[in-house]
Formats: sequence, structure tokens, C-alpha cells
Amino acid sequence: MGYREEWFANNKSDHGWYTCANCGKKIRKADVDIDHIVPQKYRGSDSLWNLQCLCKHCNRSKQASVKDTVPDLVTTNGERLVKGVKRNLKSTGKKIVASVKTAVKKTVKGKKKK
Ligand SMILES: [Zn+2]
Repeated sequence: MGYREEWFANNKSDHGWYTCANCGKKIRKADVDIDHIVPQKYRGSDSLWNLQCLCKHCNRSKQASVKDTVPDLVTTNGERLVKGVKRNLKSTGKKIVASVKTAVKKTVKGKKKK
């Protein structure tokens, strides 16, 4: 099973509609781009924790940017995230791992305050 199929198998549509994780637009399956939150360029994993649903417009403007990586990871994974980062990013450049971890800690802390 490809990562796209896996994502669809684990994320139910709302009567055939999916929601773009970035702009919130409702989109049909044919218009869904399954995005790698940590881009494949940085050895981002095909696992579910690293996938999100984007509309074609948002995915095109994101490309291989890591600008939104941390908030996206937290939104998609919440508390499970730090573990996922540790397990799956070991092979990634240590610099990226360290910066993601630090940013994740900050973001998760900020979220808990609510
Ligand atoms: Zn969008």
C-alpha cells in the first residue's frame, strides 16, 4: 500500500469531503494532495505521523519548505509526536532533529497551557 492509500485508509472523509490541513478548505479526494510534513528531501517518513492532507494550492506553495513543519507535526500528532521524531528521524541530519525537537517541546508546552 502506498502512503496515499494508507492515509485514506486511516482518515475518514466527511461524506466524501476532506479538509485541507493548512487553509481548511473542503476538498474532494481527487483534489487531495497527501503531503510529507517533514519533506522527503529531508528523508521524511512515509508513516502516517508524517502525512497530512493538503489542497493542491497549499501543497504547491509549500513545496520542500520546512517552515511549517513543527506546527504541522504537532497538529497531526500531538503528544505522540516527540516519540515519533525520536524514532523516525534518527537517520535524518542531526541538526534538523535537534531543531525540530526543541521547537516541538516549545509548541507542545504552549499548547498544554490552554
Ligand atoms: Zn489548502
